[in-house]
Amino acid sequence: MNFDGLCVPALQGLRAYDPGHDLVAWRRRVGPSLVELGSNENPWGPSPAARAAVLDQLHAMHRYPDPLGGDLKRALAAKHGVGLEQLILGNGSHELLMQLAQVFAGAGDEVVASQFGFAVYAIATQAAGAALRVAPALPRDHATMPRGHDLDAIADAVGPRTKLVFLANPNNPTGTHLGIAALSRFLERIPPNVLVVVDEAYAEFVESGESALSLLASHPGLIVTRTFSKAYALAGLRIGFAVAHPALIAVMERVRESFNVNHMGLAAAEAALGDGEHLQWGLARNAEERTRLADALATRGWFVHPSQTNFLLVEFGARAGAIEAGLLERGVIPRPMGGYGLPECLRITIGDRDENRRFLDALDHLA
Ligand SMILES: *Cc1c(COP(=O)(O)O)cnc(C)c1O
Repeated sequence: MNFDGLCVPALQGLRAYDPGHDLVAWRRRVGPSLVELGSNENPWGPSPAARAAVLDQLHAMHRYPDPLGGDLKRALAAKHGVGLEQLILGNGSHELLMQLAQVFAGAGDEVVASQFGFAVYAIATQAAGAALRVAPALPRDHATMPRGHDLDAIADAVGPRTKLVFLANPNNPTGTHLGIAALSRFLERIPPNVLVVVDEAYAEFVESGESALSLLASHPGLIVTRTFSKAYALAGLRIGFAVAHPALIAVMERVRESFNVNHMGLAAAEAALGDGEHLQWGLARNAEERTRLADALATRGWFVHPSQTNFLLVEFGARAGAIEAGLLERGVIPRPMGGYGLPECLRITIGDRDENRRFLDALDHLA
């Protein structure tokens, strides 16, 4: 049977998201000494309050979760100063990115994203049946944002068929960050009927604390997505959310699966949100380790992209493939970047002190 031929045209030939190396297989092979630096997870773990909240929910496993996610939404609304009707929860923000394309772009429409933008945008666009227009990124030798988003190029790529723009800030995989003033000027250039999604999966790591959330009131076509997977260390529970105009959220709700976020995730996210001290502690550890790791790599002569996230994009040149293989052989998992058109680079998540040391040791045995 030719099932590819049977599926809807938009999905024919579409390649599934590549999650990197098979970590389950690697854990089995290497055991607990495996150093996992491929998925931008938080090595310090979530707030103890999140663990307690999950345990507290175990008795209710036979019940459906709250389809409205009311408690978590109230906590998010209070924290971010937005209305409850401006929020939608997702099974990770990945689900919301897919839904945004499904809802707002279809056959004959265009979606704009940047070169070296997050891989999910292309998949979401194609799955929706729309066409992706890729705006060229800033050059590698740009002073502050090597390979980062070029907002002028993105605005120039917006045409009469454009329905949606996806941009990540800070960006994955480059780690680069755009200031709020530049983002605000960019939004002024975008026609009002073109929706702009600012993916803030790494917003908590931004030193200035700036967020596109502050631009929502003046830009009704702006959607900000966030996640509990990175700074809040709850990747395994799959909780993300989007903030936008209430009427836009109401349209999104039409396609949301009613129980898309589970009990444990809801409870853990609410508890994690309430533990600002733990969040700040993790962010401080990350910043400290990121500086050490970036310095160590630069000292060894490798080009490191500036990062306001929990990972570093490192250029290893023609040796990237051999270095990747050597790291794997020594039980260290990096993320290859060939899929992003950057085969000369590897993306390295900031680990804890010990993990980073073991990564550098492995690297030094190769170099
Ligand atoms: C990790 C990541 C996400 C998705 O995270 P979820 O776990 O699905 O919430 C979204 N955007 C970017 C840029 C990311 O790096």
